[in-house]
Amino acid sequence: MTGRDHAEKLDRDDPLASFCERFVIADGERIYADGNSLGRLPLHAAVRVDGLMAEWGELLVTGWSRWIELPVKVGDLLAQVVGAHRGEVLACDSTTVNLYKLAHAALDLRPGAIVVDEHEFPTDRYVLEGVATRRGVPLRRLACDPVAGPQPDEVAAACDGAGLVVLSLVNYRSGALADLPAITAAAHEAGALILWDLSHAAGAVEIGLSEHGVDLAIGCTYKYLNAGPGSPAFLYVRADLQDELRSPIQGWFGQRDQFRMGPAYEPAEGVERFHAGTPPIVGLAAVQAAVEVALEAGIAAARAKSRALTELTVRLYDERLEPLGFRLASPRDPDRRGGHVSLAHEDGWQICRALIELADVVPDFRGPDTIRLGFAPLYSRFVDVWDAHDRIAGLVESGRYRDVPADRLRVT
Ligand SMILES: *Cc1c(COP(=O)(O)O)cnc(C)c1O
Repeated sequence: MTGRDHAEKLDRDDPLASFCERFVIADGERIYADGNSLGRLPLHAAVRVDGLMAEWGELLVTGWSRWIELPVKVGDLLAQVVGAHRGEVLACDSTTVNLYKLAHAALDLRPGAIVVDEHEFPTDRYVLEGVATRRGVPLRRLACDPVAGPQPDEVAAACDGAGLVVLSLVNYRSGALADLPAITAAAHEAGALILWDLSHAAGAVEIGLSEHGVDLAIGCTYKYLNAGPGSPAFLYVRADLQDELRSPIQGWFGQRDQFRMGPAYEPAEGVERFHAGTPPIVGLAAVQAAVEVALEAGIAAARAKSRALTELTVRLYDERLEPLGFRLASPRDPDRRGGHVSLAHEDGWQICRALIELADVVPDFRGPDTIRLGFAPLYSRFVDVWDAHDRIAGLVESGRYRDVPADRLRVT
């Protein structure tokens, strides 16, 4: 059996251990296992947002001459997170809106079917369904193993006549990490553009967008990047594609020479043409600070720790939870797994709710039966993983989880 002393040793040897102190941890007893859904608050972000509020109070509208740079500045920081060049990433809008913009732009350039994983995150499936209907192109839902996720040969087989392939690098449900180089090559081979959704990957895994010639990407900043609830998202467009693509939202922030306020829309040069309206500056200040913390830790170091955290999770599942009726709903191979681990159980919903209400462990739940454990690398300790498993095992062994109501809440 893996004892708590093993987890304590991993914490002692952890090069990122001190980053815990960079985050607000209000309740030391509570174990936070939902960093893949909403990251903790970095102290640096709170300070930066306070500073922005002070600027607003003092500078009023004259502050815009400095604030207007933020989407590109923050985009350049995010480029370091996703392995892109300066000028290829813009911090703007939500992931949902960025998908809409880039999907239409891509299909203008490469008309054809849209290919999406049938297990893709809901907003991606819904947006693409709307885009396909509006454009009168087929939407192909790729059937694949729900735990392992889409494989390169499956994508290749679905790509005939496709204009655009949209996939998550890390699947929100199973945590499967897709083979980005091989799948990107397969889409290109078929003449399609590829758009990667990095929402569950950014800040947890290393991503080489430039290295692998990725066309387009989107992602959010409130998960492993810790920029706060509803913080602005980002989009990436490879430099050589930028002039060929146009946003379907012809907003004034994407306009060339914006303040000339000319009669007709003419897209700005570079990635800024994918802007829509006035950027959310308070949110962008939080993204900037949060991403600075992530880059200070280093994405390679974050990935190494995240991998070790999920390895410990799987090992403790094998020893303590599998005998209690849990089933591993994530890939076992750490090279094919992102930053969270999913465990299915027939009483999953009640166990998840009991963990929050009776055991001070906060995971989340994805129906019909899956508990997700997301120990984010910058502020999670290995003993958190051990203690969480100990509390889960205690609740299930004793049957105490049956004390909480079995009805569902609005947000799970
Ligand atoms: C979290 C997530 C989103 C979120 O989209 P929003 O527009 O921020 O609501 C989209 N796609 C994937 C794959 C996600 O994991």
